[in-house]
Amino acid sequence: MRDQTIIVSKPEISTSGFDSLGVPTHRAATIVFASTAEYENRSSRGHQGYSYGLYGTPTTRALEHRITLLENGVRTFLTPSGQASNALALLSLLEAGDRILICDNVYPAVRDFAERDLKRFGIRVDYYDPLRLDELEGKLDPTVKIVWCESPGSTTMEVADLPELARLAHAVGAIVGCDNTWATPLYFKPLDHGADIVTEALTKYFGGHSDVFMGSLTVKNEALIQPVRATLGRHGIGVSPDDASMVLRGMETMSVRICHSARVALDMARWLEGQPCVEAVLFPPLPSSPGHATWARDFSGASGVFSVVFKKGLAPHVGRALDTLGTFVIGASWGGTRSLVAPMKLGRDRSVTAWPHDDLVLRFSVGLEAEEELWADIERLALRLNGIAVAQPAQGHTP
Ligand SMILES: *Cc1c(COP(=O)(O)O)cnc(C)c1O
Repeated sequence: MRDQTIIVSKPEISTSGFDSLGVPTHRAATIVFASTAEYENRSSRGHQGYSYGLYGTPTTRALEHRITLLENGVRTFLTPSGQASNALALLSLLEAGDRILICDNVYPAVRDFAERDLKRFGIRVDYYDPLRLDELEGKLDPTVKIVWCESPGSTTMEVADLPELARLAHAVGAIVGCDNTWATPLYFKPLDHGADIVTEALTKYFGGHSDVFMGSLTVKNEALIQPVRATLGRHGIGVSPDDASMVLRGMETMSVRICHSARVALDMARWLEGQPCVEAVLFPPLPSSPGHATWARDFSGASGVFSVVFKKGLAPHVGRALDTLGTFVIGASWGGTRSLVAPMKLGRDRSVTAWPHDDLVLRFSVGLEAEEELWADIERLALRLNGIAVAQPAQGHTP
């Protein structure tokens, strides 16, 4: 072999005896075939076989396999973000003339996708109150192809009765999809509670370090594999094995990270609930949180993300108070090692439920910093807002 050929050829190195604990990172666009016949028959390798790097490498398959086991599904597909998983789930299964029913507390980008893209493709979009399944039942008919659920819902944390929702949806032949990002499959397995498809934003607790985007989509039945796989292929969507290896590594510590964050979050949520400036704390483990009984029945735990609503009139003061935080940082996303707080506005992101409070929900994600330093922030924030709440009693307590 000449030098120029040596430098571009894969060296034949034995891996015999090399048994490491980590999953190797396999990068590939091209997959090489041993013969012309094998190349021509590559489609017969099936959805688990290898034919082109975009459709999977041993690294991405390892991550998919782990998630399939956690979700009790038959096949998982990786996508470049949590939102991509949600969009692809819908795009794979809907066609013009179909209807979709979406929970009113859905991740805002899903609402946007439905309003701007699904409607453009002739799909009829409607919303339902995740806490009023009697109303959902009234909206169901055989043209409904998908009932989309996110439980607990983004920001406002309502927990839906997924088994009942699935029973109603399946009765008219609809498919049930569920975004399970808050609980992760460690604490809730939607496919065991009636869903046909579950999505996760791996960007959050799985990745766990606020530095990688990825999503997963797991199906319960073999019949759903082909439509999803084909849609991913036609849209040219796959993920980098380097990113997959970061998620494979991040998720190994996920159970201890979530467990710790949830414990600290629960203490804080309980304490905040008793503060004069606080109207409500939205966190499924709290008995006052919407859908708490359903959470207690179906979920085996909580994560470290909760939301706080302040007494009427305090919203304009929250921003300045946040700027005094020392350990919590302000930013979107969550589920990482750093504690985050984000002032969220529901704005036009509700269409069939009323929001009775000021349009400001403060979302907290508890990370892994020293607890006493996080508590110092929480206390400072509450004391400052309590001072304003007490100074403005008329605004603080108008019914
Ligand atoms: C963050 C989030 C997503 C989107 O995840 P990205 O990876 O940021 O696209 C989807 N659903 C829920 C519930 C989320 O919290």
